[in-house]
Amino acid sequence: MTTPGHAERIRANALKERHQHDARMEEIDFDLSPFTVAWEVTRACALICMHCRAVAHPKRDPTELTFAESIQLIDDIKSFGNPILIFTGGDPLMRRDLFDLIAYASHEKKLRTSLTPSATALASRSRLLKAKESGILRVAVSLDGPTAEVHDAFRGFQGSYDRTIDILQILNEIDMPLQINTTICRYNLPVIKQMPDIVERFRSVQWSVFFLVATGRGKVEDMISPEEHEWMLNYLYDLGKTAGFDIKATACPHYRRVAIQRQKAKHASPTEETGIRFAGAGFRYEDGLDRPMKGVNDGKGFVFISHKGDVCPSGFLPVTGGNVREKSIVEIYRNAEIFRQLRAPSLLKGKCGVCDFREVCGGSRARSYAITGDYLAEDPYCVYVPGES
Ligand code: SF4
Repeated sequence: MTTPGHAERIRANALKERHQHDARMEEIDFDLSPFTVAWEVTRACALICMHCRAVAHPKRDPTELTFAESIQLIDDIKSFGNPILIFTGGDPLMRRDLFDLIAYASHEKKLRTSLTPSATALASRSRLLKAKESGILRVAVSLDGPTAEVHDAFRGFQGSYDRTIDILQILNEIDMPLQINTTICRYNLPVIKQMPDIVERFRSVQWSVFFLVATGRGKVEDMISPEEHEWMLNYLYDLGKTAGFDIKATACPHYRRVAIQRQKAKHASPTEETGIRFAGAGFRYEDGLDRPMKGVNDGKGFVFISHKGDVCPSGFLPVTGGNVREKSIVEIYRNAEIFRQLRAPSLLKGKCGVCDFREVCGGSRARSYAITGDYLAEDPYCVYVPGES
């Protein structure tokens, strides 16, 4: 059982180590290895969330990777080096061999692993404890609003908010580091400033803010505007100066551009400004799931594997570079055309192609694809005009 004192120590150590560099991470060449691998072990899920990327179904797909194929995949992921492996879905807890796969990845292969369960009855205390015993270092829980009204409307059924709060409480009690994921869209933007108190209350290591991409069940009309993106990024930057948790922007790499601009505007030394971490600088957590030193983007430091083994640059960019049933993930990540293109900033089009921030940002490739059908097109939800600073 966690004591408040122990949990505080975990968090205090995480904060203290924010600026410590890990030489191993600095040396990662994203042309060769991703920093993070997200594996959709199943697409099955009992929920029907309105923005679900996966368009999840209640039943498991019989063509999911088998246990033997999954073990081979974990072996191949390990051959990258030491990436973080996220067990995601769907609801990963719908897969009966999940804990065996986690234990193999964590204990046998010594990979750093995290888990993103759905907020259903499957995420019980006993299963969360089992996940911990199997080697999971952090559990990410989705909370899309500060009230039941907002969150339940997102998640498709009443009671989801209460269940989510229960899961967060259990994670605190079993001393499992956690992060809260929030998908930002037009429904929760008006109440978004109420979220940090909840993130803080459950002693979250990280608040990971996903900017909605119109893929799967996500709709363009539910996305916030480019100007609202800019407001949100600046809000997160300001919040990060005082928050007791780390902040991560997903599907919005121009957060790094905003952080750099804000620092330049203050003429602050990067080491004096805590916001530098948003520009891609990494730091170390006690749970071992550190942040990368360089700017990660779709297919560049990040790779996604679908339940059927398709390898994509991200879960929000459903264009495959190959399937692990035919080629190893290492071969696909390093050599498939889409991955090579996404790691070449000179191929970016429009304003992203001429942008002074294209190396550290590059725009959301998934959003460009969702809006224009071209994953190399400029990010239409960035307000920046290259040449300005
Ligand atoms: S124009 Fe493109 S590369 Fe430049 S900051 Fe905006 S999204 Fe990033």
